[in-house]
Amino acid sequence: MLSDKELIEQLHAKLNELKSSQKLIERQQDELKLVNEKLAESEALKSHFISNITNEIINPFASILGLSKNIIAAKDSDIIKIKSMAELIHSEAFELDFQLKNIFTAAKIEAGEACPDYVKTDINLLLASIISAYKYKAEQKQLKINFSFELDKKLTETIYFSTDPEKLKLILSNLLSNSIKYSNAANKIEVKGWIDNNKLNVAVKDRGIGIDKKNLEIIFDRFKRLDSSINSINPGHGLGLSVTKALLDLLEGKIDIVSKRNLGSVFTISIPQVEGANTEDYAMDGNEFIFGDSDNEIF
Ligand code: ADP
Repeated sequence: MLSDKELIEQLHAKLNELKSSQKLIERQQDELKLVNEKLAESEALKSHFISNITNEIINPFASILGLSKNIIAAKDSDIIKIKSMAELIHSEAFELDFQLKNIFTAAKIEAGEACPDYVKTDINLLLASIISAYKYKAEQKQLKINFSFELDKKLTETIYFSTDPEKLKLILSNLLSNSIKYSNAANKIEVKGWIDNNKLNVAVKDRGIGIDKKNLEIIFDRFKRLDSSINSINPGHGLGLSVTKALLDLLEGKIDIVSKRNLGSVFTISIPQVEGANTEDYAMDGNEFIFGDSDNEIF
């Protein structure tokens, strides 16, 4: 038989147990609420993304079809008009190709199917070809792209670096595309590459709208876009930097940002060289040189 005192003590203990499990339930309810809110936010972002990409795929296709039809119907003497229509077709197809590459890469990453494919790559040529590909877009905003590659004294003229060139290309295309999108017109963009400690570093600097400190982390979130007034005139769906970050993780690289609102941003990537890459040289696909084929013309 328990004494009254013991009974009261046991009741107190039970009451305390009950109170702490109630607290636990409350905490779990709060966490559940947070997860639900995040889920709702991600659902909203996803449905916005779907309607957004539908426009971004259908609209360029419509103009490519319309423009190519006009070219077919044009007279031979209209060569200037034909050329400018061909340039517009290229520009639309270029943007479409870029957006689709981001979408398919994001899908591969999500499915856990993305893995690096290392090749000995002529890094100077790779960088120059990416910049050349964006020259037309930059010119549309009267932007000048300066490119420099600092050679390590020990290296010969051609800089071979073992990495995954396709992934590196998509990473740098995203950074360069953003630097053009978020630059004010008639300004300068600088791309600087260097190798140090067996690491390839590339910095892309713009003098554009810049990013607030509080937003420096969230820009890597999938579908996240900042300034809606500026972004309503710029193509994109907030996928580029999340893909960039995931690809850098795959290559064991990292990214660093220095940015100031209304002054501009510098995005710097750094990736280590890998051992045991395929020794065959990486071959460019050649499409990059449509708008100019000499280095002087590019820079
Ligand atoms: P997108 O450019 O398609 O919107 P990203 O994932 O590439 O998507 O970038 C996410 C957001 O980060 C952009 O919407 C933009 O608000 C901001 N951002 C990215 N790069 C820059 C930059 N160079 N300057 C200013 N803002 C940038």
